[in-house]
Amino acid sequence: MALHWKIVLGLVLGLLFGFGMTFFDFGPAFVSDWVQPFGTIFVRLLKLIAIPLILASLVKGIADLKDISKFKNMGIRTFVTYMITTVVAILIGLSLVNILQPGIGISDETVAKLTTTYANDSGVTSKIATASAQKDASPLQFIVDMVPDNIFYAMSNNGLMLQVIFFSILFAISLLLIGEKAAQPIKSFFDSLNEVVLKMVDLIMLFAPYAVFALLASVVVSSSDPELLLALLKYAGVVVLGLFLMIVFYLIVIATVAKKSPLWFIKNMSPAQLLAFSTSSSAATLPVTMERVEEHIGVDKEVASFVLPVGATINMDGSSLYQAIAAVFIAQALSFDLTLGDQLTIIFTALLASIGAAAVPGAGMVMLVIVLESVGFPADKLAIGLALIFAVDRPLDMCRTVVNVTGDATVSVLVAKALGKLGNPKVKNWDDHLDEVN
Ligand code: ASP
Repeated sequence: MALHWKIVLGLVLGLLFGFGMTFFDFGPAFVSDWVQPFGTIFVRLLKLIAIPLILASLVKGIADLKDISKFKNMGIRTFVTYMITTVVAILIGLSLVNILQPGIGISDETVAKLTTTYANDSGVTSKIATASAQKDASPLQFIVDMVPDNIFYAMSNNGLMLQVIFFSILFAISLLLIGEKAAQPIKSFFDSLNEVVLKMVDLIMLFAPYAVFALLASVVVSSSDPELLLALLKYAGVVVLGLFLMIVFYLIVIATVAKKSPLWFIKNMSPAQLLAFSTSSSAATLPVTMERVEEHIGVDKEVASFVLPVGATINMDGSSLYQAIAAVFIAQALSFDLTLGDQLTIIFTALLASIGAAAVPGAGMVMLVIVLESVGFPADKLAIGLALIFAVDRPLDMCRTVVNVTGDATVSVLVAKALGKLGNPKVKNWDDHLDEVN
């Protein structure tokens, strides 16, 4: 059975199992004590290889370019394409929420119920606190934060991925500049390190279907009261519709600009998308996204190794689309008027938020606080605003992470196509050398 079908099976069985367990008193505790740890182990394994993979593949990728001016060209193309796709996502979100107006019909009773349930929940208050810490920083702080002062410290913290990217680029450019002969030993070392880490991805993925089962079962047993979920069905429906349209947009671009079959693209990317859905984290999914894009789609390492890690941290189309919809939904539900100028502000702040948000579960909601504040939403009502959408945040986080990952992959295909670096896929399996080893 193909890997993506095995993962789908794990996902469906996990959902059913989790749902079944909610009927037993001991069910939720059983799942969190005995099932969830397997999901956690898997996410840890993926995160474990993210930093070595970025370092090895970026150094190898740039060193193989042979010409630094190509790197500049690729960098500019990547940033511009990321900005364009994010603006498209925000515009889709704003159009849908203004046309369908999901916040208008929400009764005062529902608002009151959601507020009493969630306004003081630590999930909501911690997001507001994190957002205010981010907002108080100087405007150039995010550039300062990209530059590490200790590479071992940066490599020891998955949240500092941009610092590792910065170091790898500087290192690789210096490697190019010392000349072929002097660079050879280091290049061979990183070549081989890169192969090893990609093999680790293959091995870890053998465990994916079981892990996805565990992750989904634990999401289901810890989800909110079904009655509250139902009240937010229209809002959730609008977000999901927007995310779906965004995927359609990517597929159109893949077909028209990259001249590749959309079905082929989705089929080859699906294991990464399914993991994005199950883990709610683009950072955790990154190793699989890189492996898929390079080995199964055929994007050259030079492009994939730069575009994807940068995208995982700064390009979040799904999250920006969600922020646009959520901000206007909250304003509609709480009768807070938004002018056209406010909506333009939302476009701008959601774009910046996409760069600033961490690639971990729930980060999109932190940035939503900043978007709401940018349009003058009263600070004392922030907790109420977030409480309104908190119940459905996890499932929507799962869906927007799929779009975030698909967006990064699409842009890597576009950049590769433009630079003539989209070749034929060379699939490597985990057991290619098993006979020799035996
Ligand atoms: N979970 C998302 C991601 O990792 C970010 C978000 O919360 O929107 O891509």
